[in-house]
Amino acid sequence: MLIVPEREIANLMTRDAAFDAVEGVFAAMASKDAYNFPVIREAIGHEEALYGFKGGFDKAGMALGLKAGGYWPNNLEKHGAINHQSTVFLFDPDTGMARAMVGGNLLTALRTAAASSVSIKHLARPDAKVMGMVGAGHQATFQLRAALEQRAFEKVIGWNYHPEMLPNIEKIANEAGVPFEAVDLEGMVEADVVISITSTFAPTIMADHVAPGTHIACMGTDTKGKQEVEATLLAKSTVFTDEVAQSISIGEAQHAVGSGLIAESDVHELGAVINGTHAGRTSDDEITLFDGTGVGLQDLAVAARVVALAVESGVAIEVDF
Ligand code: NAD
Repeated sequence: MLIVPEREIANLMTRDAAFDAVEGVFAAMASKDAYNFPVIREAIGHEEALYGFKGGFDKAGMALGLKAGGYWPNNLEKHGAINHQSTVFLFDPDTGMARAMVGGNLLTALRTAAASSVSIKHLARPDAKVMGMVGAGHQATFQLRAALEQRAFEKVIGWNYHPEMLPNIEKIANEAGVPFEAVDLEGMVEADVVISITSTFAPTIMADHVAPGTHIACMGTDTKGKQEVEATLLAKSTVFTDEVAQSISIGEAQHAVGSGLIAESDVHELGAVINGTHAGRTSDDEITLFDGTGVGLQDLAVAARVVALAVESGVAIEVDF
């Protein structure tokens, strides 16, 4: 069995490799070559922690396994460790034997950023110039860095509930050589592409904050009750997602479907656009919305890639098991 420790991931994994892995697994999901197992997430009654498993099997990529982990809110204060903790376990699909254990913290950020980037590649207008960010926390920096590689963006505009965090994303824009401007939410109408990545339970982005022709990737809503955008925005948009079952239960579409504004059949797999079985964007005025809920197969895809890279560069630790 191989171990790829968290400390090695930054040296091994590239944004390009994460992008290819996630694009490939979304395509496999849409062609029914890969499926996610039901998600388990439990409040364990200790340290206020939320712990769970996201797993699946990708027959196309031959990746079988799960990501185990969750959120320990006291980690930083008590242990000087980050609050989100996860580890990916891969198994041999032919034998069921454990194949690898991989640090999952950085991989989670890279695979989540890759998901919105894949949506931008396939759904945003080719002439998109203004990138809008709603959110400026840990994930937002990865999201923006990856998104800026998808189009020839000339400006980044940003809004955050906690304005003192905006320098986090301003720094990323500046590193990419793109000017940054803080705006109010009404100012988001200038954006051609918007990414929202916040932990809010009440919508902050209203339907009239998003102009016709925009592509918006909603990446923060991954739990029942969370909501980043007004539900009527989904009714005005063509809605895509990583996985329909998650989108309508724990994703942004839970609210629009729950209140009858859209039907489950109005939510389409991004993988179908990648495979060419859904046309994707069909006009310059259309709003496309990607509901990125985060699936276990994304984790397995990037972990499998990183194991291959670790073996290639001789840093995978082999243990008898
Ligand atoms: P973080 O704590 O670093 O940042 C939180 C962000 O949410 C900040 O921008 C903060 O200002 C904003 N925020 C907090 N309360 C708010 C409110 N009431 N209204 C509006 N904005 C508010 O967290 P993070 O690690 O960047 O994660 C952000 C979100 O992304 C979380 O909800 C997390 O669960 C989710 N997430 C989703 C995926 C996925 O695959 N879709 C993967 C990882 C994380």
